[in-house]
Amino acid sequence: MTTIALNLQATNAAIATAAAAAGRNVNKIKLLAVSKTFPVEAIREAYRAGQRDFGESYVQEALPKLMALHDLPIDWHYIGPLQSNKTRAIAANFAWVHSIDRLSIAQRLSAQRPADLPPLQVCLQVNVSGEDSKSGVAAADISALAAAVAALPHLKLRGLMAIPAPTDDEVAQRAAFAQVAQIQQALNQQGYALDTLSMGMSHDFPAAIAEGATIVRVGTAIFGARD
Ligand SMILES: *Cc1c(COP(=O)(O)O)cnc(C)c1O
Repeated sequence: MTTIALNLQATNAAIATAAAAAGRNVNKIKLLAVSKTFPVEAIREAYRAGQRDFGESYVQEALPKLMALHDLPIDWHYIGPLQSNKTRAIAANFAWVHSIDRLSIAQRLSAQRPADLPPLQVCLQVNVSGEDSKSGVAAADISALAAAVAALPHLKLRGLMAIPAPTDDEVAQRAAFAQVAQIQQALNQQGYALDTLSMGMSHDFPAAIAEGATIVRVGTAIFGARD
């Protein structure tokens, strides 16, 4: 097996272990392979090993890779920063967007989603405690954003995404992920049916799974260190 195939096998095994420890069904946890900065051949290798969902963070880097991989039925997830001049390309080429942080961007994505494609599956990026304040919506503002995004015709609001401040302390990791899960529960009590918690990266996905993650976004542990 290739290194990428072995890394995928180890990551899937770690996901299964974390799910079992939490008493959760492993089939409710999707592994998103974050392929940013890695070449098309690395993605093909992961695909051959069975991986189907891939995440990219930069539109300019992603588009040529998506074109080169057009022969494969990959579900592409956009997980990076959103700029208004890039929304058209994202709406046309991705199945998911995890990083919605303001209504104006969501409105553009909905208006620009091609009519022949299913609704764009979206998550709101929430800023939980300790996090760099540049990314994500404050917890206090999530409810209003959710209401507005849920009303957009060509988006399907699926849940929340978070990137807590990196820490090796598993107690702190779990506390941050628990906050995200609590915000989701509060929204669902308001009448939403959010089924997605996109949280957990290479260094903290077991803690995220313990707190209910349904998508873990793993790059380094699959493809190796980025430059
Ligand atoms: C790069 C990135 C990841 C993957 O991070 P690793 O630490 O390499 O697993 C996950 N989520 C987002 C939003 C990223 O930008």
